[in-house]
Amino acid sequence: MGLIVQKFGGSSVADAEKIKAAAQRAVQAAREDNHVVVVVSARGQTTDQLFGLANEITDKPSNRELDMLVSTGEQMSTALMAMAIHALGHDAISFTGAQVGIVTDSHHTKARILKIDTKKIREELDSGKIVVVAGYQGVDAYNNITTLGRGGSDATAVALAALLKADLCDIFTDVEGIYTADPRVVPEARKLDRISYDEILELASLGTKVVQARSIEFAKKYNVPLRVRPCFNNSDGTIICQEAKDMEEVVVSGVTVTKDEAKVIIRGIPDRPGLAARIFKEIARNNVNVDMIIQNIGTHGHANITFTVPRAELDDAMSALHGIQQEISAREISSDSNVAKLSVVGIGMRSHCGIAEKMFQTLADEEVNIQMISTSEIKISCIIDEAQSKRALKAIHKAFDLGKK
Ligand code: ADP
Ligand code: ASP
Ligand code: MG
Repeated sequence: MGLIVQKFGGSSVADAEKIKAAAQRAVQAAREDNHVVVVVSARGQTTDQLFGLANEITDKPSNRELDMLVSTGEQMSTALMAMAIHALGHDAISFTGAQVGIVTDSHHTKARILKIDTKKIREELDSGKIVVVAGYQGVDAYNNITTLGRGGSDATAVALAALLKADLCDIFTDVEGIYTADPRVVPEARKLDRISYDEILELASLGTKVVQARSIEFAKKYNVPLRVRPCFNNSDGTIICQEAKDMEEVVVSGVTVTKDEAKVIIRGIPDRPGLAARIFKEIARNNVNVDMIIQNIGTHGHANITFTVPRAELDDAMSALHGIQQEISAREISSDSNVAKLSVVGIGMRSHCGIAEKMFQTLADEEVNIQMISTSEIKISCIIDEAQSKRALKAIHKAFDLGKK
């Protein structure tokens, strides 16, 4: 007997008809002699609406209370899904994350799963039930409800698949699979039949929201067989797997853009040892994550440092820096939120050259100025003006010939 985890995203359970269709898939898999665990997200825009409710009360809600609130979206979906399965004549039982022992750390709104006690799930599966688990949530060591960051139902599904040693984890969503670029922004984008864990991990970390980056880290570590599939038809979607030799023949697998970052510029600091350390110590002390960093070569004894931070953390970064401006003798500290990070990703970059040149030339032809550059073995990212990002994304997609063949 096999074991399958099926995860249904928000759009796949948005209304009664969709819930019934999802339930049908679960029942079919069970009738094909599988144990089935279903992980559900909150319906449609429910999570956004719940965050909105909090903001109607206060600008700065407590993260613990936010988790209490937003986790309810998934709980609603589980009960409705279990009812839909019952209506199809199959036994099912719904659980919250806490009820099935998904234990996380205490970082409210972005908790990490520490352990899952699979005993209860196994017992229910063995008694012939389809087990429906609320995605996106867990409980910490002090019994507080936590959530796993936006898109976190993917992490629930993958973690359960890993620990239950599932034969397959299917992520059902509202597109045909993983594309070379967001198909809603680049209509010519092509659906990929397969992609390596490393590539989708980079893409997800750099803004591709089709699967949550953390879930891929987990999938890679535990070698979870993963598929991203449409909920609206029976296509196979995209298989996410370990890289195979022939995958390197494809130089670029995808392009992506994120507008979640902001740029911080510190001008005119004395060019001497210890100042960069002092700046980033202060930034870290304020729990701000830093991404790209550039320091120019000092002239006349002074240097400039530019770096990017998540947009949501810009205010914290700026107040931290203003607090030490005198101490570090910085002439000026400024920021720019109107930036976007455009990236190309592909494991083929390891063995092919000329990718950076092609990317930079394409941006030059589009008259897009590159403000910052960073690279890893399988990606090149550029910070550009946000207003030009859509045009730049399309041009890069075309330049690397990623469109439909
Ligand atoms: P779900 O609610 O099922 O979790 P998400 O909204 O989290 O769905 O993810 C699906 C969305 O991801 C799609 O509607 C699509 O617009 C977006 N997306 C962004 N980049 C890509 C890509 N490269 N391939 C496929 N979808 C992408
Ligand atoms: N409902 C949560 C969100 O909107 C989790 C998820 O959908 O994966 O982020
Ligand atoms: Mg999602």
